[in-house]
Formats: sequence, C-alpha cells, structure tokens
Amino acid sequence: MTQRLVRAVHCAVVALLGSLVVAAGATAQTPGAAAATFDVVLNGGRVIDPETGLDAIRSVGIRDGRIAAISATPLRGSTVVDAGGLVVAPGFIDLHAHGQDLPAARMQAFDGVTTALELEGGILPVSAAYDRVGREGRPINYGFSASWLFARIAEKEAMEPSGAITFFQDAQKRKGWQFSLASPDETTRLVARVERGLQEGALGIGVLAGYAPGYGRKEAFAIAQLAARQRVPTFTHVRYMSVIEPESSFEAVAEIVSLAAATGAHMHIVHLNSTSTRDIPRIAELVSGAQARGLRVTTEAYPYGAGSTVVGAELFRGNWRERRGGSTAGDIELAGVPFTDATLEEAQAKTPGAWIIAHFMRPDRSPADQALLDQSVLMPGGAIASDAMPWTSKGQQLTGDVWPLPADAFAHPRSAGTFTRFLRDYVRERKKEPLIDGLRRMTLIPAQILEGSVPQMKTKGRIQVGADADLVVFDPATVSDRGTYTQPNQTATGMRHVIVNGTAVIRDGELVRDALPGRPIRRSVTVR
Ligand SMILES: [Zn+2]
Repeated sequence: MTQRLVRAVHCAVVALLGSLVVAAGATAQTPGAAAATFDVVLNGGRVIDPETGLDAIRSVGIRDGRIAAISATPLRGSTVVDAGGLVVAPGFIDLHAHGQDLPAARMQAFDGVTTALELEGGILPVSAAYDRVGREGRPINYGFSASWLFARIAEKEAMEPSGAITFFQDAQKRKGWQFSLASPDETTRLVARVERGLQEGALGIGVLAGYAPGYGRKEAFAIAQLAARQRVPTFTHVRYMSVIEPESSFEAVAEIVSLAAATGAHMHIVHLNSTSTRDIPRIAELVSGAQARGLRVTTEAYPYGAGSTVVGAELFRGNWRERRGGSTAGDIELAGVPFTDATLEEAQAKTPGAWIIAHFMRPDRSPADQALLDQSVLMPGGAIASDAMPWTSKGQQLTGDVWPLPADAFAHPRSAGTFTRFLRDYVRERKKEPLIDGLRRMTLIPAQILEGSVPQMKTKGRIQVGADADLVVFDPATVSDRGTYTQPNQTATGMRHVIVNGTAVIRDGELVRDALPGRPIRRSVTVR
C-alpha cells in the first residue's frame, strides 16, 4: 500500500473506534456537548495533532483511558483541567529508552514521555522483562525488543541472559563475543533465541552491532531475514563509528541499506547523530537515497553532542581517537570528571561496565559541529529518541520507589531532557521547525515506525477521537530541559500535566507518586 492509502485506512480505523466510544456514551461532538460528562476534560488548550494537521483551540474529553471527544466548546467532566494558554499534544513516544526502572520512567515523564521503549538494546528473556516491569508498575507505557546481542553473548560465553541491562554491563569483562565470528551452528542457535523473544511478544529486534563489530555479514543477514519473516523492524546501533575507511560508519550504514534491499526487512538506524560522527552529510545522502527508492530505512536522533555508554566498549579501543575524527581521552567523562589517557586505560581494565559520557561533537563550542548535529536531528522523517540511561548513585543502579532521586544521582542529561530540549532549542529558540513538525517527530513518526507490526501503536501518537489518552499539556514559552553533563539530576520543566491512559502522572507540574497507569506495549505472545 502507498503511504497515503495506509494513512487513509488508518484514519478510518481510528474514526470508527471513536464513533463507537462516542455513540456508547454521549453526544459529545454535537452542540449539546456541554451536557456530556467525561472522566477528565482538558478545556481550551491549543490542541495539536500532527496527523490531521489540527492546530486550534479545542477541549478534549477523556473516558475509559481514551479520547472520547474533541470539541470547540468547553466540556464537563469529573476532573476539569483549564488548558488555556497551554499546548495539548500527544504524549511523546520514545523508541530508545534504556532506563527501564521506576526512577528513570519518572524522570522521562517530566520530559513529556508517555511511552518509553527499549528497542536498540532489547532484552532476553523477553517474558521475564515484561513480567518484572509489570509487577513493579510504571507511570508510563513500556516495552522491549528481542536482543541480538544478548543472544550472541549467550552463545559465545555460555552466560544466560537475566532479562536486565546489567547482563550487558557484566559481559564487558569478556571479549570473545565482541570480535569472533559465529559458526553456522552458533548463528542458527542465536537466531532461534531471538525468534523465541519475538514469540514472547517483543516489538522487533534490537541490534547493538557497534558493541560486537566482529560479527559476520551472514549472521546479520540471518537476523534481517528473521525480521522480514516475522514482519518486525530491527533497531540497529551500527558498527564501526569511524570517519576512516575501511570499517567506517558510512560502510556500516551501507550494510544496513543492503540488508533492507535484500531481505525487505524494515531497518531502523538508532542515534544517527552519534554513530555517524562527522560523516553525517554523506550518511544522510545514503539513507535518503535508499528511502527515495522505497527501501524501509528509518532513523532517529537525540539533540546532544555527547553519548553515553560503558567505558569498556569496543568503540574506545585501538585508534579510536582518529576514527572519531580527532577525539581525546578528555572527551570522555565519568560522573562529570574528564579522563586522561592513563585514567581511561585504568578504568577500561578495572571497571569496564561503568557508564560514562563521551563527547563526539561540541555544538556549544563549534558552529560547524552544531550544523552537523542539526542535520542528523532534523533528518526528514526522522524521530526524536532519547537513548535515556538508567540512573546511578554511588556506582549502583537506582531501582524501585526512590523519589526524589538522591542528590548525586547521575546519568546522561538526555535521560531527563531530550524532548523538552528539542522543543526549547530547535523549535522555540532557534526556530528550526514549526511546533507541529517538531511534535510530529516525537509522536506520530515513532508510532508509525512501529504500527505496522505493533497494532497498539495505531492509537498512539495522535489526538483523535478513539486514540489512547496519552497526552501532554505544556507551556510552549517555558518548556525546557535543565540537566547538564555535570548536573544531570534535574527534571525538565514546563510540563503542566502528563496523562497516561487517561490518568495524570504529572499534575500541575508535580509527580503523582502513586499513579502507575503505564501498560505494556507488546505483540501477541505465541509461546508460553
Ligand atoms: Zn547505542
């Protein structure tokens, strides 16, 4: 189907759902709307829906977790929110959220995120991860892909995955899984592990290729074939991260394009901003060319010039300084303190699983770097996705009902401010895009990236009757990130209300601590 036809069919589905909801309850869209009552109403806000182009003063009525009415006149409900002077938009959908713990989810809620998915890394076993998060409860919706890397580590190191990100950190002490080819038997077994994850409802296949750049092309081909067969996307952190050929970022993206062409799989490239290094202009041409010829290659980026990963990662080994286009140990920081060559080497040997921040560009110091970052962030059709990290304190990952976070809690500031930073910097201050287009990157585009394989996403990322009531109500004049690389532990500001499945998790700018309305985003489970 063409994009337009897909959209038309989709709009009809949402409208049908909506008419059922309205018919069951009220005359919500008729002149008598004021008589209808809803669970929650948001009255008189500037309602923006990127799919239909709606950008007007409207009132939104919510019933049973869904949008039940959108009215030009005020509505009545059990809870009435005056949204005058505020923007009402679909809640932000984050395709790239590693912090799948309660503290991380709360920090993201302040950033306007209503759905946070771990798709780049993914997880195994998939059921264990959904069970754990479901038991704990979340303020925002959550979900996972099936992890190729976890499967590879399991086969290469005989370590059984734990269903948590700490498995990846622990594996940093071993190296075999990073550099050696998988035998045909190992490939068959690791593909089976990933397939099992998909059968357990995973949203796609997470491919942390950059952490195991020694994999073979036939292994990557087998994974892409699996994705095509199961009709799910892959989410790839491309290998190499280098401006120097061979083994360049350009070559790695060309590999992704070839896999999309040969298998028909939907190949999604994560954080185009960081893994492209300074080759963004050519890589953007490569991706746009593939897209123009109908290949299903999509992208995302986050609006920062620094990344975050483990200090033992392969991308800081060998001649990494040259490969990154001229980096130094001082571009890498641990809890705000830059490394020297000596301290970096020591940390790589002793604590390879420690989270660090690595500057790959300096947009604050260099207009040329800012222009490169902008090109990746403003890629046509690209999503904004955070790559949000777990929060740590005293070397321990923060989990459970810890709030507020302890004063020394640390993570990359993108974990608390990606979306509000984009709205402040790219939309309000530098006016790179109109608000509706900026919102599209955080709502509709990520929903569309997933909705072909994840039916739940068809009713997210939109403000339309029948859509899920995942909504943000924010002040466009003040919405902003606050966290910095040295003091990241600061919630974003400007989100007045954040509503998930009809329930407020941020109310009047404050966290509703006992609100846990987040639901799993999951494909149907075909094995038990
Ligand atoms: Zn990554």
